[in-house]
Amino acid sequence: MKKFFQVDKGFEIKGCFGLKGCPNAITKSENLIKKFEDILMKENITEFLKTKVKGPLKVHHKFKVALSECPNGCSQIYIADFALHGFLKFDVKEEICNLCGACIEVCEEEAIKIEENRLIVENEKCVGCGACVRVCPTGALKENFKGYKIYVGGKLGRHPRLATFLTVLDKEEDILNIFKKVLRFYKDKNIKGERLGTIIEKMGWESFVKILENY
Ligand code: SF4
Ligand code: SF4
Ligand code: SF4
Repeated sequence: MKKFFQVDKGFEIKGCFGLKGCPNAITKSENLIKKFEDILMKENITEFLKTKVKGPLKVHHKFKVALSECPNGCSQIYIADFALHGFLKFDVKEEICNLCGACIEVCEEEAIKIEENRLIVENEKCVGCGACVRVCPTGALKENFKGYKIYVGGKLGRHPRLATFLTVLDKEEDILNIFKKVLRFYKDKNIKGERLGTIIEKMGWESFVKILENY
């Protein structure tokens, strides 16, 4: 009888409620999710893992992809091998800001303040959730970029590791390209079905990034 932790598939892809109408969603990534799946199938990840792992394939062996449509990361992006979340950047049009304070009220990061009758955004605190842009009544906060923050190497298990920020990308082609490179690295360096985070930890982040750049 098959044990409950044994699996047939060597990967999983998790999206979030953003695709089903969550008001916080910044990106809409149905296509991207479909394409990740196509690539994982094409790369034959399940068969690959079966050749690496001793005994049956289990839940913890799976290559996990997680995508959230905003920085809240509801699809557990920080414990996935490859993860991304939507975010945005914005400009302030001071000439049409009436200093109503609605953006300050809604910002959970306390990234916006008014000083000497001017609106100040502390970019280092901003996570790009877009809440301020959505509530601004005058349109003084204007989105100027929408894209994804990419993370790699998250996992649970005996030695948990949070996924590390890799880069920011907005074009689908570039995201799929980096995904393919990460998969190539994972397959090239995998010895016995270990998770990507384990391989990165052993090798060191700098070496991982260098190899990725040269693929
Ligand atoms: S990650 Fe953001 S968009 Fe997705 S379900 Fe959570 S709050 Fe909504
Ligand atoms: S919500 Fe808009 S108008 Fe109000 S203070 Fe913020 S930027 Fe200015
Ligand atoms: S995008 Fe989100 S985190 Fe950034 S300033 Fe606006 S409300 Fe705050």
